[in-house]
Amino acid sequence: SLSDKLQNIFKNLRGKGRLSEADVKAALKEVKMALLEADVSFKVVKQFISSIQERAVGEEVFGSLTPGQTVIKIVTEELIKLMGSETTEIALKPASEITVIMMAGLQGAGKTTTTAKIAAKLKAKGRKPLLAACDVYRPAAIKQLQVNGEKVGIPVFTMGDKISPVDIAKGAIEHASKNGFNVVILDTAGRLHIDESMMEELIRIREAVEVYQTLLVVDAMTGQDAVNVAGTFNDKVGIDGVILTKLDGDTRGGAALSIRSVTGKPILYIGMGEKLSDLEQFYPDRMASRILGMGDIQSLIEKAAAEVDEEQAKELSQKLRKAEFDYNDFLSQMQQIKKMGGMGSILSMMPGMGSQLAGVDMDEGERSLRRVESIILSMTKEERANPGLMNPSRKQRIAKGAGVDVSEVNRLVKQFDQMKKMMKQMPGLMGGGKRKGFGG
Ligand code: GDP
Ligand code: MG
Repeated sequence: SLSDKLQNIFKNLRGKGRLSEADVKAALKEVKMALLEADVSFKVVKQFISSIQERAVGEEVFGSLTPGQTVIKIVTEELIKLMGSETTEIALKPASEITVIMMAGLQGAGKTTTTAKIAAKLKAKGRKPLLAACDVYRPAAIKQLQVNGEKVGIPVFTMGDKISPVDIAKGAIEHASKNGFNVVILDTAGRLHIDESMMEELIRIREAVEVYQTLLVVDAMTGQDAVNVAGTFNDKVGIDGVILTKLDGDTRGGAALSIRSVTGKPILYIGMGEKLSDLEQFYPDRMASRILGMGDIQSLIEKAAAEVDEEQAKELSQKLRKAEFDYNDFLSQMQQIKKMGGMGSILSMMPGMGSQLAGVDMDEGERSLRRVESIILSMTKEERANPGLMNPSRKQRIAKGAGVDVSEVNRLVKQFDQMKKMMKQMPGLMGGGKRKGFGG
């Protein structure tokens, strides 16, 4: 995943006071690949990376953050900035006037569904919306809007499918003004691909009636295509805002970033499901975390589940609780950690762990893994099972047996104690806590 990649890159940046140009360059090369994988457009990535580069070089590594976390912090802040920093509300006229909203987008993007979702939100705010069935091409389109309207308790204006969308729009607005509606949402037709006649129809509607907001609906799962669609609609038709649908799927949502910077128009809402209540306000900071996949406890748990033998983990967890953790466990634990991509990678995925671990040098632990193994193997059975037996003469003997300096044995003993302490703070990871997310 993206998160793993970033963590891996940044592992190399640990333990430095100030970010050098070379550090930042190397890290950003990987960030670039990762963003491209998350569906951020090439042009946007290029601009983004160069602006980060400028900002990150020479940046001081903040307090308890590692250099890697510092770069992540900068990248996150810049991603948020690119998405407009703030949440944008849908623009409406005063309640005494009629606000006409025209929905635009390709077929299947989610226009008809989103029309009803938005109407329900506006109704909850005290507006009186009317939906207008302007898709006269797709056979079941009118019926679909009527069904959706009924679900949210909002009337649908229709004139059948023999009348032009322009006339239906006019008719709907007339109906609204006679019947006290103050929002009219036009559900228009889409095509499978961008085509001129579809866009011309939207322009004709806008020439005939006063459309206050043209909202483009795009499917987040289509990635780069969604970005291209947004760019074309904005150039040819002109849009005021975007709704990004189907973010409940497994897409990273990088399209959100590109859409904002390609069109300059805000994302107003995100579609989070097929239900008509599944429409959420767009929060740039949340989207940035999603794109980077940070604090991704779930993926950490999955990773642990995939690599750690469950039985062994359970046993270990019990030992920890009884404070029986010994050098044999330490050895097998280090081997598990190695399989899982290193201690630094694991801990940096846990929000809030950074500051607690500021004094613990994980990478050094990983590098000396081999030597640690030989040190432990030089201990007697008794010593391995009873860490309390350790004393200076035993340490001398062990160092000799492993062919290392006694200072390394001392360091191992210290690391062992740190590890023991740390493992106690993470019983869930090591098998004592929830197991629900495991498997699969
Ligand atoms: P239109 O052709 O643009 O009017 O698209 P529709 O509103 O008919 O939606 C096409 C399909 O996408 C339907 O099956 C919807 O239920 C589904 N859909 C729309 N928005 C979302 C969303 O946010 N999440 C999910 N999972 N499905 C959605
Ligand atoms: Mg439709």
